[in-house]
Amino acid sequence: MSTNKGEKILQLENTYAKLPAVFYSLQKPVPVSKPNLVLFNKSLAKDLGLEFLNQQRDLISNYLSGNEIPDGSKPLAQAYAGHQFGHFTMLGDGRAILLGEQIDPNGKRFDIQLKGSGQTPYSRRGDGRASLYSMLREYLISESMHHLGIPTTRSLAVVSTGEKVFREQVHNGAILTRIAASHIRVGTFEYVSNFCTKEDLQILTKYTIKRHYPELSDKENPALELLKVVMQKQIDLIVNWMRVGFIHGVMNTDNMSIASETIDYGPCALMNSYNLNTVFSSIDTYGRYAYGNQPNIAQWNLTAFANSLLPIIAENQNEAIELAKDVLKDFQHIFKEKWYKMMFDKLGIFRPTEKDEDLVNDLLSLMKTNKSDYTQVFLALQHNKKLDNPLFNKQEFNHWIQKWNSPHHAPDFELMKRSNPKIIPRNHWVEDALEAAVEGNMIPFNQLFSKLSEPYGNHPDEFVFEEIPKEFDVNYQTFCGT
Ligand code: AMP
Ligand code: MG
Repeated sequence: MSTNKGEKILQLENTYAKLPAVFYSLQKPVPVSKPNLVLFNKSLAKDLGLEFLNQQRDLISNYLSGNEIPDGSKPLAQAYAGHQFGHFTMLGDGRAILLGEQIDPNGKRFDIQLKGSGQTPYSRRGDGRASLYSMLREYLISESMHHLGIPTTRSLAVVSTGEKVFREQVHNGAILTRIAASHIRVGTFEYVSNFCTKEDLQILTKYTIKRHYPELSDKENPALELLKVVMQKQIDLIVNWMRVGFIHGVMNTDNMSIASETIDYGPCALMNSYNLNTVFSSIDTYGRYAYGNQPNIAQWNLTAFANSLLPIIAENQNEAIELAKDVLKDFQHIFKEKWYKMMFDKLGIFRPTEKDEDLVNDLLSLMKTNKSDYTQVFLALQHNKKLDNPLFNKQEFNHWIQKWNSPHHAPDFELMKRSNPKIIPRNHWVEDALEAAVEGNMIPFNQLFSKLSEPYGNHPDEFVFEEIPKEFDVNYQTFCGT
């Protein structure tokens, strides 16, 4: 759409606002005092058909701070519930506003959401705001995940607000523009199933299927089919996380997207030394969301999803439960199969035999014992390089290499190259870049960002195999909701 002067303007659609009013609260972002554009993702803007914004910095910071609402937009905060660390609660967008939906040049629909945009009816005791630090962190890690080839929400912009945010410390405030296939969560279904009518649940299911899985609309039991497809997609997502060592940190049901994108970057971080028990989040005392527990939690969350769909899976509750159980019982074996396939790819094993499962398990067990860096070991194998890690002096590891590199296998190095990133957002790099950025120096951030944009590309060896600060991760902690 364009103005009579020929300038293009932002014109969003609002299909979510046409759903039953109990699904959301109409709410405008709370204006901020001094919006200033800190980051703008030009290449994403182009993909979304928003290239014209590149030329209009003032317009961007007005729109993407929430100070100006695009014509025709019906801003709203979405209602949802969720199981947080296993406990069911009412939540909702407490610090985010859905501006509307942008249709990209391929006809695909994306939510444009402002995060950190002020209080809403769901804010409870929160201030509705976000710190510059945490919004830059989400921008960096979500974009890095995208470039790693992992489904994720994207980050279009960060605008600083000119206002302070009070947490344990005083921070500068900022707003992130988040782009998502949608913001429908497992928690959205839990909310509608628990607090709205059965008809509302039918409407949400129909909307979700139309938006994300239109091929299911003609099926005999669309709700059951939705459960199946979301389970498959979640398995793919978690396997992909595990490939690069990603730990979400707070996989509550409200943080699990039905479109199966990685969503709600809070205390997430990537693992250095291989250990299934790795946890960085300061509040995850019992390791519920530890690296290796993510498949179990995904299954737990899918059970909550199934539970919320029961009323529309079948009239008879027992029948509905049996049908849902029958779907969920396949989780473990599908996960196991896909996880091994991913690990075989990392090892360049193109045609695995059953015995090769031991090869994977033996390597991981050696890596755990020797506290070897997960990313670097696969690269070292690929490049026939020795790392400065006890693993590389172990007899057992030499035997392992002989088995792996036997004529029966002949590792496929191209496959390895595609499966093993050279660059991941390592915790110490991320922290260094963010520390400088919040002080106003964006150079380290931009340098890191550009490296992370090509994780499988050709990077100098010194950089890829740069020494990782010893013990850095032992005390490294990440925080929610900053
Ligand atoms: P999260 O940990 O980001 O998934 O958020 C969990 C819930 O807390 C969601 O309902 C958020 O909207 C809400 N929330 C987090 N931080 C704030 C805040 N500063 N003000 C209001 N609500 C918040
Ligand atoms: Mg959340």
